[in-house]
Amino acid sequence: MNNASLPIMDDHMHLNLRTGRGIEAVKEFRNAGGTHVIIVSLPAGECGLTITSARDYEAVYDLTVEAVRQANEIVKAYAVVGVHPAEFVGLAETRGIDEAYAIVEKGLDIAARYVAEGKAIGVKSGRPHYPVSPEIWEQSNMLMRHAMDLCKEQDCAIQLHTESEDNTMESLSDIAAMAGLPPWRVIKHFSPPLVKKCESLNIFPSVIASKGALEEAVTQGSRFMLETDYIDDASRPGAVLGPKTVPRKTREAIRNGTPEEFFYKVHKDNPEKCYGIKVEL
Ligand SMILES: [Zn+2]
Repeated sequence: MNNASLPIMDDHMHLNLRTGRGIEAVKEFRNAGGTHVIIVSLPAGECGLTITSARDYEAVYDLTVEAVRQANEIVKAYAVVGVHPAEFVGLAETRGIDEAYAIVEKGLDIAARYVAEGKAIGVKSGRPHYPVSPEIWEQSNMLMRHAMDLCKEQDCAIQLHTESEDNTMESLSDIAAMAGLPPWRVIKHFSPPLVKKCESLNIFPSVIASKGALEEAVTQGSRFMLETDYIDDASRPGAVLGPKTVPRKTREAIRNGTPEEFFYKVHKDNPEKCYGIKVEL
């Protein structure tokens, strides 16, 4: 163990209090050296909930808020709540595109209300990372823009679940600019290690800590965050990456010669900048 005062944050993890390991996963994270975690709302279906109206998102977000409350007994935890882009696609299939749009739009409004009430520090939105019809694509972009408008109003961060194509970062940055949302509030979740590219646009990549990604990110600079996208699904243990991954890879990189100072940027300065929080031990 190196300097025990280094915070280590996982920027995107889920806890499923109903069917997953829940708080046990957070203990595993802490025992590996993790100190801070952003817990992101799961899609409603993953929580065993069905969305029939926007109000139903309150139950989804309340589960996240409760997970954060429990996690806060072990580490410092924060909630990011919102609507997964695939939920809009699913709702459009079952309820028609107009009703789906209205539900997701209001679901995002409710997410922003949770930020206003201090229950969450950011909103989750995005657009499908797989091919969809032009109409769904366009409306997904409009919903993401709506979420950015809300974040501008709340002066809070947005975590975006999107495709990762060549022009994705520019596109996200452009839409944020149209919304007047400062680029440093924009986090590309599940990001490849495109640290330089994001730095040039002033947005933040939340790099998925899969094999080789941190090593690559480190060669490009320190302006990124790290995440596991741990989904806490009993049928897919350790997916996407296990709760220990971020602390373990951080310690490993320090052992291999990356200065500890570097990781104060990753785990403290960067999240402080984009979420407007204080990351301290
Ligand atoms: Zn996720």
